[in-house]
Amino acid sequence: MMGIKERGFRRLPEDLSLDLLVPEDNFYRRLEERIDLSFVRELVRPLYAGGGRRSIDPVVFFKLQLVLFFEDLRSERQLMDAVADRLSLRWYVGYDRHERLPDHSSLTRIRERYGLGVFRNFFERIIGMCVEAGLVRGEELFFDATKVEADAAVDSLAPRWFVEGHLQDLFEENAGEHEAGAQADRDAEESGPEDAEHVRRLPAAGDEDLIRANSASEDWISRGGAQDRSFKGTPGRERTADTRASRTDPAATPMRWSGSARKLGYQTHYVVDGGKSRIIFSVLVTPGEVSENRPMLDLLWRTAFRWKLRPHHVTGDGKYGTIENIAAVERSGIRAYLGLHEAGGRVGFFPKSAFAYDAEEDLYLCPAGETLKALGDAEGNRRRGRIVTYRAKGSVCAACDLKPRCTTNKNGRSLRRGPGDGHIDLVRAYMETEPYRRAIRKRKVWIEPLFAEGKLWHGMRRFRTRTLEKTNTEALLIATGQNVKRLLAFGGKGPKKLVRSAALRLPAGPLPDLARRSRGAHRRKRGVSLELFNKLERIRDHYPQVGDNGLSCDLCRCMAAAAARHGRWAATT
Ligand code: SF4
Repeated sequence: MMGIKERGFRRLPEDLSLDLLVPEDNFYRRLEERIDLSFVRELVRPLYAGGGRRSIDPVVFFKLQLVLFFEDLRSERQLMDAVADRLSLRWYVGYDRHERLPDHSSLTRIRERYGLGVFRNFFERIIGMCVEAGLVRGEELFFDATKVEADAAVDSLAPRWFVEGHLQDLFEENAGEHEAGAQADRDAEESGPEDAEHVRRLPAAGDEDLIRANSASEDWISRGGAQDRSFKGTPGRERTADTRASRTDPAATPMRWSGSARKLGYQTHYVVDGGKSRIIFSVLVTPGEVSENRPMLDLLWRTAFRWKLRPHHVTGDGKYGTIENIAAVERSGIRAYLGLHEAGGRVGFFPKSAFAYDAEEDLYLCPAGETLKALGDAEGNRRRGRIVTYRAKGSVCAACDLKPRCTTNKNGRSLRRGPGDGHIDLVRAYMETEPYRRAIRKRKVWIEPLFAEGKLWHGMRRFRTRTLEKTNTEALLIATGQNVKRLLAFGGKGPKKLVRSAALRLPAGPLPDLARRSRGAHRRKRGVSLELFNKLERIRDHYPQVGDNGLSCDLCRCMAAAAARHGRWAATT
């Protein structure tokens, strides 16, 4: 028989509190218990006046931002609808059933009032919690960027001079309003009793110098990822963004998506720790036209100085491997495990990497084994930091079978070597080592899944806000949420993990004689466990000679078997 559900609702008892209605194992209970956000009141205190109407509690605002992230909501309006509907969300933000919730428009105002600086501080305070929980290693840093679609269509592109002129007009109008408001504030302050206190807080002469010096040194982070329009890219290639800008979102620039689709977008750059928790250290959104390699050094210095890190190496793909980046990273004592940027060579011809440089003889060896010698005053040019040209003999090249794949020049193939090429050779040497190959393999499973997570579950596929300041804020909130997830997942086990990792750390003394294990015992275990395999990998990193004379062949075979079984690294001994 078909059932018919009668609709009827009894009044809730008076003594039934919201706290009782939220299940004990609710996710937001865990979040409330683990993450104390009371620090945000201090963070935003300078932005509030001493008197007047009470504002929305900043803690409530930031809790709502976390709910926006965890529920994958696209707007503040949707957010407040969800909070009004769900008891657990009401409980988390601390509003009882009968209490009126903040209006969604207030949240937008508060976000604009706080600005990017407050959100960056919020992001960094959460990283601080991750550091305290022992989730950060800081020995290796991974760099990558992903394309994020802007909330604007390609059809909105117009001549840049028109868009910038229009914005300037708007800005001047607003500036007039701001100036009038500031003058009114000044008049009120002059007649107020707090005059002396205000004067005391003015910057002193020394501070002025400091402010001037600081404002002169601009980097990608301090200017919020904005493009430097004086920067010229590849000669002869005009960027669309130099002449055209979007009327909807002037900061978004045209990008090639997979296939031939052209959309307006941004690049979101992440710097991720190599520890198991994959904590995101830095986030920066730049216009789509900015290539990945350009903000890398600013992100690295900021991460290293802010968190007092001295990483052993940094890892990134070929887009990061420019001479400038590699030279700066190597000069600072960090290994540049970067792919090499081979752009610029002729398609179908041997790239420069096919030629081996012999530093002792100061010449290049070509794929046919012939030599390319330096032209002119090579030593003088090198001393002055100039480029040295190397050339093979025209007659040798003319008789060479490989010439169709090498050069069309009748004078022979030539190569140019600049001051940074020594660093490139160093990276080529790293490429032959297992730690380099392992770092590059690890990059794929370390940082790219974070972008996938952001895009699949947290709205990172397309920004919901416009302009650089707001998209940076949005990206910071997504990255903050991702770090909070790791803090909830791993943070509670901090001390235990520290003890365990200390126990697994290699002894400072001589290498234990692993080869003395009896062959029978080794066979009985039917291969090595993943822990042993990892330990052997670490030992091999520290003691390169182990692969040659420290381990028995059986053990090496077991390492290979364990690698294959666990789908991890390929054993190379
Ligand atoms: S063409 Fe000249 S430089 Fe090129 S492979 Fe042959 S000999 Fe060497």
